[in-house]
Amino acid sequence: MKDDIQTRRRNFLRNTLATGGAVAAATLLASRQTQAAEVLSTNDPAAKALRYVTDVTKIDVSKTPTFKAGSDCGNCALYVRAQAANGQAPCGAFANKLVPATGWCMAWAKGPTG
Ligand code: SF4
Repeated sequence: MKDDIQTRRRNFLRNTLATGGAVAAATLLASRQTQAAEVLSTNDPAAKALRYVTDVTKIDVSKTPTFKAGSDCGNCALYVRAQAANGQAPCGAFANKLVPATGWCMAWAKGPTG
């Protein structure tokens, strides 16, 4: 009887530690993936060259003749929708740096919802 209790106690501790370790590892991995994603800056030289903005409503259409009404990052073919989170996703035109769905640049290309 005493051996039975000790065996159950040992199994409980082993299982608890294993589960806790897996949760800690998953949390650390998610944290590192979040840190790895870099947000595209409007000061990035490539972003400036393509007149990148984070808010499409702020575009001066008279200075941006290639702008098409209704276009934005969210409906661009280069916006990696499958990895979108918190209103932003990696952009294929800028080394997968994060851009908001509300952004725009001259590399815009009609996507599936554009
Ligand atoms: S290429 Fe498309 S998704 Fe990337 S910044 Fe320009 S408009 Fe946005």
